[in-house]
Amino acid sequence: PKQELPPLVAMFPTPGMGHLIPMVEFAKRLSKHNLPITFIIPNDGPPSKAQTTVLTSLPHGISHVFLPPITLSDLPPNTKPETLMTATTVRSLPSLHQTLLSLMTSHRLSALIVDLFGTDVFDMAAELDIPSYLYFPTNANNLSFAFYFPQLAQRVQGEFRDIPEPLNIPGCFAFHGKDLADPVQDRNDEAYKCFLHHVTRYKLAKGIIENSFLELEPEAITFLKKNEPPVYPVGPLVNEDSINNGSEFDVCFQWLDEQPRGSVIFVNFGSEGILTSAQTDEIAYGLEMSEQRFLWVLRCPKDKVENDSNFIANSNVDPFEFLPNGYIERTKGKGLVLPYWAPQAQVLSHISIGGFVSHCGWNSTLESVVNGVPLIAWPLYAEQKMNAVLLSENVKVAIRPKVGENGLVQREEIASVVKRLMVGEEEQKIRYRMKDLKEAAINALKENGSSTKQICELALKWKGVTIPN
Ligand code: UDP
Repeated sequence: PKQELPPLVAMFPTPGMGHLIPMVEFAKRLSKHNLPITFIIPNDGPPSKAQTTVLTSLPHGISHVFLPPITLSDLPPNTKPETLMTATTVRSLPSLHQTLLSLMTSHRLSALIVDLFGTDVFDMAAELDIPSYLYFPTNANNLSFAFYFPQLAQRVQGEFRDIPEPLNIPGCFAFHGKDLADPVQDRNDEAYKCFLHHVTRYKLAKGIIENSFLELEPEAITFLKKNEPPVYPVGPLVNEDSINNGSEFDVCFQWLDEQPRGSVIFVNFGSEGILTSAQTDEIAYGLEMSEQRFLWVLRCPKDKVENDSNFIANSNVDPFEFLPNGYIERTKGKGLVLPYWAPQAQVLSHISIGGFVSHCGWNSTLESVVNGVPLIAWPLYAEQKMNAVLLSENVKVAIRPKVGENGLVQREEIASVVKRLMVGEEEQKIRYRMKDLKEAAINALKENGSSTKQICELALKWKGVTIPN
């Protein structure tokens, strides 16, 4: 009978390293409880190098299978990521079904975990009698918002960004409609329908695993805990061994070693953030004017590369060409510019780093928190504007620069916020608060910490161990 087969947890991440990595970190912690885990990976092409690197280096007990690639070539070229991720899931359902059936011949599937755009898997899981869970890779305030969104969508006519007063949503900080996530900013776009479709289905999950921790978002987590389905904050789960192969970054770490403690501001906009030439110029001059030490990950401006969604593949173009004349020489000693990529988690843990200009992707945010590095919140895409409001207005560990009328953050503003964050007396509070959060983050994942307990509770449940009250 089914009960006697060994348990297995299946994880189904929608495309994007920002979805895979936090799920992998969760799997690593779960598997310490002797619970076998398998990743089932949908794709619209062959597995990427980044996916393979992460999945082949997983500890014993965590396996993976790539589903046969589906095709998205019939979708229009400007289709938004949310729509693409949803289509990838829906089109992978037949091969997922086959894979699950085959796993079920030797295992009892005690959970199937999908992420925020994977809820179309729920019906099939229910038919196969597999409990489905949701892994929500961003913060608890966003989750409260997601739960409330179907109601809000009914109440509001027109676009959310046009609402002048702040929105008050249960279990979520107050924020303006213009700071809402990208997919809800255009109610006629397919991505909006996808978002609404998924969030309406979140309540069908048996539980929601959330990459945050109580001390970071006490109100939102307390609110969510009072409601159904149960929410399990397991964070901050971050990529601890950032992808850094070989000696490519030796120069960067040597340079950091030579800088005074907490003196360097790190500037990086996530795995997909690229700016215009005009904005790149403002950053260059702004950093110089701030007179602070800086480490800047520079990418080719989006108006200078042909295919901006694939900028890493354009690494044959030298981004230094787009810097102001003589910039590298002028800033030598004070600043270091790296082309394209930095091993971010490792950089943020370096003692010389004292601040982080970030696009506020949730993984970058948590990496900053676990290292106690205060931020300049410079959101670009996805739900990053919401994260920026959380960090600057609610948790108060970040400064958000003002965007000028021409849509650019001007060099004077950049210089001013960088100076304030790094040496400003008024901003001492920000630095202290971030130190406290770092402590809380470490404690949450200690042996008896709040997040460790949640992971343990899930592991026991999925292993079929009954927990006495
Ligand atoms: N990252 C990195 N080096 C870079 C850019 C990004 O190591 O130059 C990593 C970063 O440490 C984080 C992830 O890529 O773990 C980005 O995730 P996040 O959620 O912050 O943003 P996204 O890229 O998904 O927008």
